Amino acid sequence: MTVRIAVTGAAGRMGRILIEAVSLNEACTLTAAIERPESSLIGADAGELAGLGKNGVAIVGDVNAVLGDFDVLIDFTVPAATLANAKACGLAGKGMVIGTTGFNAEQKAELEAAIAPIAICQASNFSTGVNLCFKLLDMAARVLGDDVDIEIVEAHHRHKIDAPSGTALSMGQVVADALGRDLEKVAVYGREGQTGARDREAIGFATVRAGDIVGDHTVMFCAEGERVEITHKASSRMSFARGAVRAAAWVSAQKAGRYDMQDVLGLK
Ligand code: NAP
Repeated sequence: MTVRIAVTGAAGRMGRILIEAVSLNEACTLTAAIERPESSLIGADAGELAGLGKNGVAIVGDVNAVLGDFDVLIDFTVPAATLANAKACGLAGKGMVIGTTGFNAEQKAELEAAIAPIAICQASNFSTGVNLCFKLLDMAARVLGDDVDIEIVEAHHRHKIDAPSGTALSMGQVVADALGRDLEKVAVYGREGQTGARDREAIGFATVRAGDIVGDHTVMFCAEGERVEITHKASSRMSFARGAVRAAAWVSAQKAGRYDMQDVLGLK
């Protein structure tokens, strides 16, 4: 039997490609698709929306209307919607894969409480390559240590609404953890004017928003006389979608708990 998948934010950039990725994964079947209740696409066929031809799954405007129809909800929407979905899934005992980024501290705490009874996989980036980069960054930070200045540069398309990207923040967290630094204390988000000399422990973030860039990240480890750069460039959202669907199949077999893509890929 295949894992029954629901995709919310079905008409979004990620939602459409997630529907395609589910259709390409033999372990999964799309059984529900959700959009915001005011969407003009309520009632439309999800397969048609994703450019695949009809698949018989009609888009609904509320996750509560389809709670009996799926095993795992894949959610790449906005923080407020993901929170509401997490509450519904928590009560109904449905697993979740969460790709939404940009939660504030209060939303993170609310999310934590809502998902306590269920298995979820949350990641700032579901691509295999980025998750490999997290491992490489940990190694680079431990080897290069305090001799280097660390800066993270990310670029995304003009529609992205949060900055720096969740992936850039995760990369900063990996590096900070490896060096025993508190990211909240050492992060520097952009610079302007008379900034003074660079603090040795700072981890700098720079953001580019332009055109249709799917997602570029570079972490620079700069010493006197040499530098190491670890770069990942996504050229298609399918890299995230394929990972998220793989995570959904994996989550369906887990007991309640919070997991990430490193767990799914066996990188821990
Ligand atoms: P998008 O194109 O704006 O898609 C979001 C979709 O969610 C839109 O169709 C939006 O509808 C819909 N939505 C909003 N509120 C909703 C609700 N209450 N119920 C159901 N659907 C709702 O954005 P995107 O580029 O796909 O990105 C979505 C999120 O995924 C962002 O947070 C982004 O950073 C993140 N992301 C994560 C990864 C990863 O690997 N973790 C990769 C890519 C993107 P409207 O347009 O009508 O508001």
